[in-house]
Amino acid sequence: MTADQTLKNTSINTLRGALTRLETEGAALGHFNVADLVLVKAVIASAAETKLPVFVGASEGEREFFGVRQLAALVKSLRQEASLPIFLNADHTHSLEKAMEAANAGFDAVGVDFSALPFEQNVVRTRETVQAIKGINPAILAEGEIGNIGTGSEIHETVQGDRKLSTPEEARQFVQATGIDILAPAVGNMHGMLKSMVQGKAKKHLDIERIAQIKQATGVFLTLHGGSGTDDEHFRKAIGAGINIIHINTELRVAWRQSLGESLARDADEVVPYKILRPVVDSVRQVVSSRLRLFHGQAVSPEAVGSVA
Ligand SMILES: [Zn+2]
Repeated sequence: MTADQTLKNTSINTLRGALTRLETEGAALGHFNVADLVLVKAVIASAAETKLPVFVGASEGEREFFGVRQLAALVKSLRQEASLPIFLNADHTHSLEKAMEAANAGFDAVGVDFSALPFEQNVVRTRETVQAIKGINPAILAEGEIGNIGTGSEIHETVQGDRKLSTPEEARQFVQATGIDILAPAVGNMHGMLKSMVQGKAKKHLDIERIAQIKQATGVFLTLHGGSGTDDEHFRKAIGAGINIIHINTELRVAWRQSLGESLARDADEVVPYKILRPVVDSVRQVVSSRLRLFHGQAVSPEAVGSVA
């Protein structure tokens, strides 16, 4: 499908429309975190290359570094120029104030994250935040989170989170009580990667049956956080079981860091930023495109993921 044809189909130009369409196609929306212009350029280049929709995400820390309104303005500008379905998410938002800030800045979705609180408090705070952001923009999609999958899309020495999986019953209660559009459950996923995963010696495995049960119990869109380092086959099965959005952050950060190091080492006298950074954009783009193709059921060569295969 060409970019023009994609745009002519108005349904895919809203986040809800895109998620609904992808679900019918047995695909998931790739969510990629950005913290600087290199990462933004890489994700947008991948969307242009693959002609697939992308979800650009930024956590509170990433937004603070970039500027909330500045990131929203940049993504809006790139979306208009590329004529592609590119959406923006305020990932892991831990306060009402920051959720409203993102809604006011024009984000398409807010990931409301009070999952560190006890379940009942998580319900109350999430419900309050969902109502506030929908008051600002009724079309905005609200995500809520349950369970503990650890924090930090970084390289960890040990497994993160309490490994306690979300149950279909708590998922159903949470969705009904909060009015969220998207649920992020704990289904074997984990933020960050272990060193063995970065080296490609180990993979994350997901509880596919649990995903299917949670989907049936809730009927809402499901997000998989902490997707970096997950086994390809588990991704495919998770999408089949009801996952609609997959977050990849650490794999991009690993590619960013490795490529930047190589680029700097290549010529110690090089001081032109865009000459140093261009190969970094390209390395991250390759990781994004590889993941996007996988999430859309397209064949992916193992070497396409580079060092994080
Ligand atoms: Zn996450």
